[in-house]
Amino acid sequence: MKNSRKSGVEMATQRKKINVKLPNKRISEYYGENVFTEATMKKYLSEDAYESFKSAIHTGKKIDRNTADQVAAAMKSWAIEKGAKSYTHWFQPLTGSTAEKHDTFFVPTADGAGMETFSGDSLVQQEPDASSFPNGGIRQTFEARGYTAWDPTSPAFIMEIGDGITLCIPTIFISYTGESLDHKAPLLKSCHFLENAALPVVNLFDRHATKVQATLGWEQEYFVVDEALFYARPDLVLSGRTLLGHAPAKGQQLDDHYFGAIPERVYDFMLDFEREAHKLGIPVRTRHNEVAPSQFELAPMFEEVNVAVDHNQLIMDVLERVGKRHKLAVLMHEKPFQGVNGSGKHNNWSMSTDTGKNLLSPGKTPKNNLMFLTFFVNVIKAVNEYSDLLRASIASASNDHRLGANEAPPAIISVFIGSHLSAVLKEVAKRVDKGKYDEAKNATLKLDIHNKIPDVLLDNTDRNRTSPFAFTGNKFEVRAVGSTANCAWPMTVLNTIMANQLVEFKKEVDKLMKEGEKKEGAILRVIRRYINSSKNILFEGDNYSDEWAKEAEKRGLSNVKTTAYALDFLSAKKAKDVFVKNSIFSEVELEARSEIFYEAYTLKLQIEARTLGEMALNEILPVAITYQNQLIKNAQGLKELGLKKESYQSQLNLIERISNHINVIESDVAAMIEERKKANKVEHASDKAKAYCDQVKPYFDSIRYHCDKLELIIDDKLWPLPKYRELLFLK
Ligand code: ADP
Ligand code: MG
Repeated sequence: MKNSRKSGVEMATQRKKINVKLPNKRISEYYGENVFTEATMKKYLSEDAYESFKSAIHTGKKIDRNTADQVAAAMKSWAIEKGAKSYTHWFQPLTGSTAEKHDTFFVPTADGAGMETFSGDSLVQQEPDASSFPNGGIRQTFEARGYTAWDPTSPAFIMEIGDGITLCIPTIFISYTGESLDHKAPLLKSCHFLENAALPVVNLFDRHATKVQATLGWEQEYFVVDEALFYARPDLVLSGRTLLGHAPAKGQQLDDHYFGAIPERVYDFMLDFEREAHKLGIPVRTRHNEVAPSQFELAPMFEEVNVAVDHNQLIMDVLERVGKRHKLAVLMHEKPFQGVNGSGKHNNWSMSTDTGKNLLSPGKTPKNNLMFLTFFVNVIKAVNEYSDLLRASIASASNDHRLGANEAPPAIISVFIGSHLSAVLKEVAKRVDKGKYDEAKNATLKLDIHNKIPDVLLDNTDRNRTSPFAFTGNKFEVRAVGSTANCAWPMTVLNTIMANQLVEFKKEVDKLMKEGEKKEGAILRVIRRYINSSKNILFEGDNYSDEWAKEAEKRGLSNVKTTAYALDFLSAKKAKDVFVKNSIFSEVELEARSEIFYEAYTLKLQIEARTLGEMALNEILPVAITYQNQLIKNAQGLKELGLKKESYQSQLNLIERISNHINVIESDVAAMIEERKKANKVEHASDKAKAYCDQVKPYFDSIRYHCDKLELIIDDKLWPLPKYRELLFLK
């Protein structure tokens, strides 16, 4: 019988090219055609309704009933014209993916006919039958129902899946009693908090600004493998990563994939999904090969953070769907292949004003530079204070394989700002220190800064690829976020700690000003203090080095390598305080969330443990035994021929080696199952996660080690699983 590996390889190598028919138009002509944009809305709405919608969005006020009805009617007309037959509330439960439940516009009428309807009520709120989404106990305690509620700040869009055309309405997902059960609700709260906290600080410098928003530009890395090979690997199908597999003779050591020519099959796939993305108004701009073979990246223009998050969630769906058309499985997992670089999702984050200023962009005038310095230093201070919370926000079972694995940022959170800005901060601290402070009162320091900073800032080309949190010229880049992650969660944390910090900052400046300090002087004095107190978090060196781990320990920075422990930071008093005080989460919500994250971790490990056990026993051991029997037969034959033992000694050696591997695999799988049983009985989510981490997971490595050794020994024709060289070198 042919094994699925062999037929998979055959299929993968014989695939016919799929010709992607791109519209014979410029991208700008179809960009956003499936989005209910403001321009579209304007066409379908009365002027009054449009204005009241816009002003509600701008001020963050509730949209009144009448406006909602009108928007619903407009959306319906537009969607039906585009061929949509149903609509869905699209939301982001804590499962990590998106969820939807479709309803038709069509309703039957009493006379046996029917009509298409869609009211403001249906737009604003739905009650999905969602009792099996993770809720961390909230809905048991309160009420079994969950609600989705319209997020008017993210535009509705049309999803085309085959012939199915559906109007999708971005929504938040909350319990009956109002607790958030998703990623979007807390993100929106954090955005709101940041807007409110940043504006008064911006107004110290720019009186015309009336709105501040956080911006996000994500960079999504992923792998693609041929679908037939993917389905021949139960581990890829069930856990998203290979639990077994020896490194190929050629991996990424030649660095010949990075930015190399994109393989044609993948290129077609890219053109195809980019077209879909553009129709959906996702501003995808960049595509390239990544470091590892078969690894790629895509990146859009940055957008307001809530919309950017939706677009990232959406594109992950689109990648998978379009991949299927091309017989490609898209692997979003952080570490699909051992020994090969993993995937991340850099989150480029900044803030901008409605007067068009990027608050993290160094300016040309001293005044703007002081504004830049203010926001810049406040970010550093916030991260210094809450690095543990940031660490918790990027923790997941799959990201554990990446953080600290000498290829991705370590689990130690530090901030890289480059040598130029380091010098500027030192200079600022020094000048304000040296009794020049009085001069600040009459603003000479401002002029000094004028003479110093602009040219220093001009050449900010430093790059430090090893840093988890790096300043890259006009934004911070959070590099430690995992490729499967919903960016909403780390962005929620970042917005929250920054806003919290800005509130603090404004208070301190106000106080000094009340005491008679001039504005610039007050600002500089507070900044100087922040620079001095946040030094610990700044690191310019190689984050992968052992020296850094030692140095970080001396500095008192946490280095928590696994999710089971990193999540504990969410229960710390400090985390509770910053979230609860600022109404991002209630205590109940925060506890529920921790619980859900621990559970998700445990479940991931449980699935991996089961899959690995089955693969080892059902796939690897049988072929090991088959091959061993062949060797035994061969040795016996040679012996019968009267040959001396030396002539079949190699066979005997192999037989023995195979036996050793089989023994360890069999006993480790049994021991792993035992540990799993024990771990499953542990009551609290946090302890259970730790039991899985400390007692179950260590077996993964030993089982894998012996299976991978067998892969090197056993007849290639017998080996049941597509090997790394087959998975990774897609043609
Ligand atoms: P690189 O990081 O390679 O230098 P870019 O500077 O072009 O590349 O930006 C990378 C990502 O950062 C892109 O997604 C881009 O849209 C995003 N980005 C650029 N400016 C900002 C900003 N002000 N806020 C958020 N993201 C930004
Ligand atoms: Mg980048």
